[in-house]
Formats: sequence, structure tokens, C-alpha cells
Amino acid sequence: MNRPYNFSAGPAVMPQEVLSQAAAEMLDWHGSGMSVMEMSHRGQEFVSIYEQAQADLRELLAIPVNFKILFMQGGGQAENAVVPMNLSRGGTMDFVVTGSWSQKSYAEAGRYGSARIAASNLADGHTTLPRPASWQLHTDASYVHLCTNETIHGVEIHELPDLRSLGSSAPLVIDFSSHVASRAVDWSRVGLAFAGAQKNLGPAGLTLVVVREDLLDRALAICPSAFNYHAVADNQSMFNTPPTYAIYMAGLVFQWLKREGGVATIEARAVAKASLLYDAIDRSQLYVNRVARDCRSRMNVPFFLREPALDAAFLSGARERGMLQLKGHKSVGGMRASLYNAMPLQGVQALVEYLRDFEKHRA
Ligand SMILES: *Cc1c(COP(=O)(O)O)cnc(C)c1O
Repeated sequence: MNRPYNFSAGPAVMPQEVLSQAAAEMLDWHGSGMSVMEMSHRGQEFVSIYEQAQADLRELLAIPVNFKILFMQGGGQAENAVVPMNLSRGGTMDFVVTGSWSQKSYAEAGRYGSARIAASNLADGHTTLPRPASWQLHTDASYVHLCTNETIHGVEIHELPDLRSLGSSAPLVIDFSSHVASRAVDWSRVGLAFAGAQKNLGPAGLTLVVVREDLLDRALAICPSAFNYHAVADNQSMFNTPPTYAIYMAGLVFQWLKREGGVATIEARAVAKASLLYDAIDRSQLYVNRVARDCRSRMNVPFFLREPALDAAFLSGARERGMLQLKGHKSVGGMRASLYNAMPLQGVQALVEYLRDFEKHRA
């Protein structure tokens, strides 16, 4: 079946193989007589799905044994509150603000402690990244928050900072929602990582938290038990009913990633796809991406037409050619092409061809 290319920023494209497998298993999972969404989360069938998903993700992302993998709910934005409730001890937190998502995290954290901005790229419209050496880190901070891929502004951190070399002993918290599983993570530099699943892992409803074990015991008394990392870890993510179907779908995505060759292969593809699109934008007279080259996201490519009056024609022409959801975020305008793991190279080739044809034939 030929489906259109879906450039949505999230919820986003899924591997077609995964959708087909889920469809085939919908009414009767592996002879159990049940759909996965009809199973008890404590039964052996679902527990086997859960354990396989945990093991596959640990292998794919090379997550060390001293980190817990938690399957939670509430999305990235719940984590903006759940992280400070679990880690801040009501004290101070440092935020590096690089776009809309880290800005949101900073604003929410202030309800649970004293959130401070250690660095920001607001002055240049979130198009560069402040060098780690310039960050104003506080020695008393309970953690340092960083959004490693800003989905809306299209800036990506290509190397995680080593906080110790910057004179900080605080754990680094990363929001890697929109580029998780597209590149390796240096866990020696990370205390906690979180991601909503709906960009690169599976359907909305599942929230991934990877947390170092020594950070599990710091929660504020007000932290709801269902969001207390220690309680969730002690109960294998089943303190309350987890998002079972979303975990199953993410598990199918993890198996697909392994069949494709794992994160190294996926990362090489991401580099190839992104450079194809950025090259086409940079070479054109009509399109422009304003992000500094060394900070450009491989996953989310915002771009503008130099003649905004053509925006509507551009989008409807794209739809006619089978390319969906290219409209930019409302806070930024213009266009945005998201090139998540499940976007095939052919989709980017089709987009680049369309960019060229539209520029050539525009009125
Ligand atoms: C999509 C996204 C979130 C998501 O939040 P939800 O609460 O799941 O809607 C958080 N952070 C980043 C960087 C994102 O791209």
C-alpha cells in the first residue's frame, strides 16, 4: 500500500511494517485470543511484552545497568513538573533555555523550587546554541535541565556537555523527546532523560523516563505516588496500570529498529536525510532555514518561503503530491519538515524534488 509521506512533528509517522504487524495481531495476539489492549497488565502475556520492550530499549540505547527504564504517562509536559518534584528537593535548578520546550520546562519547574536560567539563546530567536563554557551554573543547583532537540525551533545539541568539567556536580536532565533513538546517548553525562513517545518511539500516551538509580530517593512529599520515580521503579512501571497498548506499539518499533541495524544505522540515515534537505534549502532562492549550521536539527527542519504569500499554494501542492503536515508551528510560522526515524529517505527525496519544482514553476 502506497501511503503519503507524513512530515508531522508529532504524533508522527510510524514504520509501516509496525502498523501492519499491529493490524495483523489486533484481534488475537500470538494465539492468546485477546487483543493486547484487552490483556491484564499483570498477566504473563503482557508481562512478556513489557519485559521484551525494556530489554530491547536497553540494548538499542546502550542504557547502563545502574539506570532504571520507566514507562510512565503524562507526556513531556507532565515531566516538566514530575522531574522537579522528584529531583529538586524544593531547592534551586538551572535551565538552559534554547527554544519553546526548555522555556516551558523552566516555567513549570518554578512552581516546585527556584528555577534559574543559566543560559539562553532568546536574543537570536533560538537559532544558535550558547556554548557550555558560557553557562552560568550554580554550585547549589539540584540539577541542570537541557532540551537536546528543540522540536519547534529546530536546534539540536550534537554533543552533551560534561557538567563536571564545567565545575558542576549536579546531574544533567535531558528532554530528548524529539530525537530519542536517532543517535547514541553518552550516559556518563546524564542523570535523567525523558521523552514523550509520540515523536520517535510510538503512539502518544507512553512517556519514557531513564533515571540513574541514585536519583530515586529525593522526591518531595507532595509528589503523587503514581509519579514518584522510586514507586514506579519498585513496581516495574506498574504502580498503576501503564499505557499497555502504547508500550506494545513502542516494543514493535524497538524490534523494527533492531532489524534495521540499530541506532548507529538509524543515525547515519538521519544525517543523510537531513543534509539532503538542508542542502536543497540552502541552494535555493526561495527557501530559507535560519538556524546556525552547527546547531541544526536532524529531526525537525523549520523553513520559510521568502514569499509568504505562496505558503498556502506550497502546502496544497505538497498535499497533492502526497506530502502531509508540512505547516510550521503556529508560534514560528512557515514550514516544518520532521524527519523522524520512520521517515524513509524516499520521502525526503520526494520533498526535495517538490521544493525544486515549486520554486521553478511558481507564479
Ligand atoms: C513533543 C515534545 C514534548 C511533549 O510533550 P507532551 O506533553 O507529550 O505533549 C516535550 N518536549 C519536547 C522537546 C517535545 O518535542
